[in-house]
Amino acid sequence: MAKNWGKQTLAELPRPRNVSTYRPSLRGVVFLLAIWYLLHNYFIDRAQLLFSKPPINTEPRCPQVEPLHPSKSTQELDSMEDYLQSDEFRNKSIERLAGAVRVPTQSFDDLSDVGVDPRWDIFYSFADYLSKTFPLVHNTLQLEKINTHALLYTWPGSDPSLKPTLLMAHQDVVPVPDSTVSQWTHPPFSGYYDGTFVWGRGASDCKNQLIGILEAVEALIEAGFSPRRTLVLSFGFDEEISGQEGANHLAPFLQKRYGHNGVAVIVDEGAVNVESWGMDWAIPGVAEKGAVDVDIVVRMPGGHSSIPPKHNGIGVASELITLIEANPYEPLLDEENPYLELLYCGAEHAANFPSKLKHLLHKRSQQSSGTCKKSHCKDHLAVEAAKAGPEVKYLFTTSVAVDIISGGIKTNALPERTHFTVNHRINIGSSTKEIMSHIASLAAQIASRYNLTLTPFNGTESPNSITLSARDTLLEPAPITPTTTNRNAKKASPFSVLSGTTRALYGKELLVAPGIMTGNTDTRYYWGVSEHIFRYGPGWDKQQKGLGNIHTVDERVGVRAHVDTVRWMWGFVRNMDEADF
Ligand SMILES: [Zn+2]
Repeated sequence: MAKNWGKQTLAELPRPRNVSTYRPSLRGVVFLLAIWYLLHNYFIDRAQLLFSKPPINTEPRCPQVEPLHPSKSTQELDSMEDYLQSDEFRNKSIERLAGAVRVPTQSFDDLSDVGVDPRWDIFYSFADYLSKTFPLVHNTLQLEKINTHALLYTWPGSDPSLKPTLLMAHQDVVPVPDSTVSQWTHPPFSGYYDGTFVWGRGASDCKNQLIGILEAVEALIEAGFSPRRTLVLSFGFDEEISGQEGANHLAPFLQKRYGHNGVAVIVDEGAVNVESWGMDWAIPGVAEKGAVDVDIVVRMPGGHSSIPPKHNGIGVASELITLIEANPYEPLLDEENPYLELLYCGAEHAANFPSKLKHLLHKRSQQSSGTCKKSHCKDHLAVEAAKAGPEVKYLFTTSVAVDIISGGIKTNALPERTHFTVNHRINIGSSTKEIMSHIASLAAQIASRYNLTLTPFNGTESPNSITLSARDTLLEPAPITPTTTNRNAKKASPFSVLSGTTRALYGKELLVAPGIMTGNTDTRYYWGVSEHIFRYGPGWDKQQKGLGNIHTVDERVGVRAHVDTVRWMWGFVRNMDEADF
């Protein structure tokens, strides 16, 4: 068992008193400060860890929900549960998933309208495949097709006063460029099974989730389960190109049907389980960063390149890019950022949690005002936590990346119009407004240096100017899903049910903590449908490292993880059905 460090609260430190009254020499003050610093940062922390003083604050910051098993069962349900762990089911499951991978439901960036562009038609084949593969689902649940290819399944519950459970996944996959096909160990749409993995595009993002949901529901029907709480499945078909056609139509439809926050819980694709600080963690995404792409155009006079000015549009644009890169955002852990909660969970439960982080966490919890809000103050905890690497740092840091640039058309002509695009992923606690004002202030410095007019975010381009505009894909950071828990998981909250289901499947050694996503899923359209949104990939094979090569060559999923996805969905639907909220 991991030692519960979190219950040991560090005591207030003795401060040197009345230093000014006896006017010590500067050297004396420095010496005292050094001793104090040493005591504070080294001996006292360690002494307290060694001698386990009684805790002052016994309230755990990261309580864990007990494993949650459905209490209502039947013989059929029990034997189906056993069957889900059998080789027979495993083989059937491989076949179902492989078959789904073989339908190449690629969504391309340049697709035109549904019904016009024939490349959408592959989704007819996918819907046919699902109806053949899951006959009970298609006989029992109501299926509505929204905007032609979005699939919305409804299994009405016997108690209409209960808000529905909503499970999501997307049917589409990232395209496989022809140039990369030869790099795949097994052809990308083969669904090849090598004894451990099912290979192919979509195997882990996220046909595993979609097929896993349908397999669980098929099994529930076969075992005679009939829900008390309505179950809804919604499958978009263009998540990989931002969900305009699928989720963008499904979400308003659902909100109209069930009302604002009319759905009890949403589970969509998302974070998978990880090992960290010597422990196993499930970190379902309860937040998503925001995003804004800023287009910047530098307009300067053209002319013959044989008589150039000292600086032309490309040079000025380059200077602005350099300035943007020289002024990155600092790591900052907002009180609402789930990563802060994860740190508290680590401090409380993980033996290998770094002592420096623990010390900074403690210091922070003593401050009444929380973290610094403004860019001029440094969040020492965030800075220290960011040292774990960029994957961690950008969970609580706004990222800035210049991704696209063009300017000039001829070697003998000066560039009149230079354009570049800056992508931002916005930290929790910040906003598109703050990002736009920051980049505008940097552009203003360059504009005044070269006597150019700055037109920030009002859309008019003129000669001798720097113009900024935000693309309409801009997105604020997502609302944070509540993560309150209660010992009685069935009464507490959707987070408790999710936690309890997960710990029932993987055991008590696995801890559940709130997580955050750097990217966005289809749930970006569902904020009004439910306030309890989780982005979570519950299937986990500890032997499989990484994310299963999503979005690149050799995408694959471990069958063990896939079967566990089915078992998790099976348990979650039943636990939600028994919950009292
Ligand atoms: Zn996905």
